[in-house]
Amino acid sequence: MPARSEMIDITGRIRALLKESKMRSGICHVFVPHTTAAVTINENADPDVPRDILMELDKIVPLNDHYRHGEGNSAAHIKSSLVGASEMIFVDDGELVLGTWQSVFFCEFDGPRTRKVIVKLTPLESVK
Ligand code: ZN
Repeated sequence: MPARSEMIDITGRIRALLKESKMRSGICHVFVPHTTAAVTINENADPDVPRDILMELDKIVPLNDHYRHGEGNSAAHIKSSLVGASEMIFVDDGELVLGTWQSVFFCEFDGPRTRKVIVKLTPLESVK
C-alpha cells in the first residue's frame, strides 16, 4: 500500500525521455507542479537513504503541530518548500550528468495522489 510519504526514483523515466528526444548536449529541468510534493537528487544505491531522509523530515516537520491551514496537510506543504520543486541536470553526450550514486527522486509528501512531473530539455552547443 502506498505511503503518505515516499521517494520514487524517476531517473529511468527521465533517461527514456532524453533518449527519445535525441538531444546530445544541454540542460534537463525537472519541475514538480504541486504544493505538497517535491523533487531531489540523492543516493540510489542504498534504499535506507531515502527512508532516512523521509524519517528525518518527519521529525523536522511533524504531521500535527497546531498548524492553521485547514486542509490538514501543512506538514506536506512545508516539506515541499524545504526540498524544492525543481532540479537541473546537465546533459552531455546524450546522457544525464549524474554522479555514480545519484538518482532523481520524486518526493510525495501527501499521497497517495496522482502526480505530474514536467521535464524540459533545452539543447545547448555544449555544457562542458
Ligand atoms: Zn493544503
